[in-house]
Amino acid sequence: MIPQSEVDLHLHSSASDGMLAPAALVDHAANCGVRLMALTDHDTVAGLDEAVVAAHARGVVLVPGVELSVDWRGRTLHLLGLAVDPLAARLTRGLRRLQELRESRAARVASALSSSGAPGCEALAAVRAAGRLPTRMHFARALVALGAAKDVASAFDRWLGRGRPGHVATAWPSLAEATVWVIGAGGVAVIAHPMRYSLSAGARRELCAEFAATGGRAIEVVTGGGGTRDRDQAASLAVRSGLDGSIGSDFHDPAIPWNPPGRLAKLPGSVRPVWSSPPFPAFETDVEPA
Ligand code: AMP
Ligand code: MN
Ligand code: MN
Ligand code: MN
Repeated sequence: MIPQSEVDLHLHSSASDGMLAPAALVDHAANCGVRLMALTDHDTVAGLDEAVVAAHARGVVLVPGVELSVDWRGRTLHLLGLAVDPLAARLTRGLRRLQELRESRAARVASALSSSGAPGCEALAAVRAAGRLPTRMHFARALVALGAAKDVASAFDRWLGRGRPGHVATAWPSLAEATVWVIGAGGVAVIAHPMRYSLSAGARRELCAEFAATGGRAIEVVTGGGGTRDRDQAASLAVRSGLDGSIGSDFHDPAIPWNPPGRLAKLPGSVRPVWSSPPFPAFETDVEPA
């Protein structure tokens, strides 16, 4: 049996905007007591090969995953693909499209920053030199290193968050389309951190109903940094939409002590754990009394 306290299905490595290389991430998660983990980098599966080898060495079950940037009604949402075949043809084509969008967006972020008085070109040079698939997080860290913000949070507040110059519109693929890629890759589609989007309660219910109707399997009911109120609301959303629940820290950085891998609340007993049925390997998990 794998208890819920040893499960974490949302973690980032340096293949996207995590601070740890995939093998170091697996080691860190294992040291934190995680035994079932998903690597879910933004729009790339490049970290998976290294993570699989490290997981084997540490006796950790590694679920191949990805966190896709998608559009729903003009908003950017994040869709987790869990237990995907990272070589599946349609997913691979989708990832290539997302990667091109990220590369061209990075250039637009840089010029928007420059027009607003931030060192956009220098930031872009640093982001490109890192050789990772660029995210706004990379820009935030570059702006901090260049002295344009005191820390990552203020870089988002001033330059990169919603309504700020470096937050540029991007034509991400639709949620429905990306859900098809995940399912076609043999995986399960899970809406990441559903309470983090600024949606009305009604819109969130419509999102989940639509997602369930188009093959979505679960929503992330427990997420790093989310409180019990978010968890309870997400749990009732899952139950009323007929969706399973997932749990994940959205870990990026060991220097952030309040969000380590695996330190997550359990799913309420009313919610079915997404990892308790195929394509996840067969094992039992514990459930909270309802
Ligand atoms: P992107 O997908 O390139 O737009 O970048 C999104 C990433 O930036 C998220 O996955 C987070 O890691 C990070 N991020 C977004 N907003 C914030 C924020 N307000 N503070 C800190 N990190 C953020
Ligand atoms: Mn991120
Ligand atoms: Mn996300
Ligand atoms: Mn994430």
